[in-house]
Amino acid sequence: MGCKIVKFVNEYRDPELGKKLLERIRQRSKKPIRLMEFCGGHTVAIFKHGIRQLLPANIRMLSGPGCPVCVTASADLDRAIAMAKLPGVIITSFGDMVRVPGSHASLQQAKAGGADIRIVYSAQDALAIARDNPAKSVIFIGIGFETTAPTIAASILQAEQEKIKNYYVLSLHKLCPPIMKAILDMGEVKLSGIICPGHVSSIIGARPYEFIPEEYGIACVISGFEPVDILLTIARLVDQIEADKPQVEIAYRRGVRPEGNTQAIRLMETVFETGEADWRGIGPVPKSGLQLKERYERYDAARKFPIDPGPVREPKGCVCGDILRGTSTPLECRLFRRTCTPEHPVGPCMVSAEGTCATYYNYGRD
Ligand code: SF4
Repeated sequence: MGCKIVKFVNEYRDPELGKKLLERIRQRSKKPIRLMEFCGGHTVAIFKHGIRQLLPANIRMLSGPGCPVCVTASADLDRAIAMAKLPGVIITSFGDMVRVPGSHASLQQAKAGGADIRIVYSAQDALAIARDNPAKSVIFIGIGFETTAPTIAASILQAEQEKIKNYYVLSLHKLCPPIMKAILDMGEVKLSGIICPGHVSSIIGARPYEFIPEEYGIACVISGFEPVDILLTIARLVDQIEADKPQVEIAYRRGVRPEGNTQAIRLMETVFETGEADWRGIGPVPKSGLQLKERYERYDAARKFPIDPGPVREPKGCVCGDILRGTSTPLECRLFRRTCTPEHPVGPCMVSAEGTCATYYNYGRD
């Protein structure tokens, strides 16, 4: 079984296959092409395997807003930090989030100041902390895209089933297709094609992207994360663009079905409804986030602990917002590699392992 898995993964790392795909891209690609990879996982894979440098000069790659930690607005982070300072509250969060500088401090600094903040690997871990600490209010900071939302929905249903009354979720979830639309509507970046996220698409499927070729004439291919996956995706995007026939294609058949994961979608829709979300560098975008339905409002940290953390102060000199919209690269930030490093991050794009700045820092060759 183990050997089969290794063989399966190796296929997608096969240098010979990669060379053939590159050759195909070089031969077929004639027009100037601008592609955006939406997902931070793709940004890491593209840099790690040096794919940008291998592509012909007419193909330009941009990174998009697909890192959940990075797109969390400072105002929302400040709200979480203010909640952490309330008496009797335990904040639970994914690891990267605690290092992101807020307007005045990070969650990590709040922890050093005495707040009870615990790093968890899943919403189930947060629920276990609630179960073990019935006298405390346990708030889980729910970040992420459609990939994580179903598991967080499941934790809320489980809390209800077990009658756990001290578990709350601060829902900062974001949705991919609406932010893609918002970025395209802003018109700041002119794209010929989009490398659509693999993990998100394993949940939502291919259909939610159909408006992109139909309304904007932009090619879309859903990609996996191995080098051959990404080269195959770029080859298919090139084919669509050169033929002037944009559509949504799946180049990640082993992970994505056109209809997505209907069970996970159902779970998400049971607990959440779409609502406005605040995106770093973009601002509020209608229907681009998930809020708890009224039926589950007793688990909603935002309703249980209404807090105004005061005015937002963005990190001085940080251009994360521009980077998330694809209008700047880390190389255009004067703090990059100087005052801002993974050890001392100024903005979230340097904190998160999937952040564009951290990726340029770790794997950048220019
Ligand atoms: Fe912000 Fe640092 Fe990235 Fe500059 S290098 S945009 S300061 S995170």
